[in-house]
Amino acid sequence: MSAAYTYDDENIFAKILQGDIPCKEVYRDEYALAFHDINPQAPTHILVIPTGKYVSIDDFGANASAEEVAGFFKAVSKVAEQEGLLENGFRSIANTGDHGGQEVPHFHVHLLGGAKVGPMVSKKAA
Ligand code: AMP
Repeated sequence: MSAAYTYDDENIFAKILQGDIPCKEVYRDEYALAFHDINPQAPTHILVIPTGKYVSIDDFGANASAEEVAGFFKAVSKVAEQEGLLENGFRSIANTGDHGGQEVPHFHVHLLGGAKVGPMVSKKAA
């Protein structure tokens, strides 16, 4: 069964992309925008989002063009380097849907670093 995706134009990242809500931008190109998470969970906590309207990582993988996918992940690499995350490493997370704990329905990758970020998954479910 393939999923049907309905994009909510009112989601907060859509408003950030349109410039209706400010963000602490660190990188922008044709394919991606990166900015500081408003509630950082590590010394460095950056969100990278595609400029296209995709709900989730599976929507992005299934429906974005090869150019968009490549452009987005090239941007993730550039941001990780620019923010000094390559030397000591970092964690990348893409929460998806209810069980994944996704709060904002526009695909985004969290980049967390600047210190050890701890166990991969909390032992307690939220
Ligand atoms: P997720 O739970 O993976 O959907 O993550 C959504 C993330 O967006 C959370 O870490 C929030 O702190 C972050 N967030 C929500 N609103 C904003 C905002 N206006 N600017 C920056 N980050 C935000």
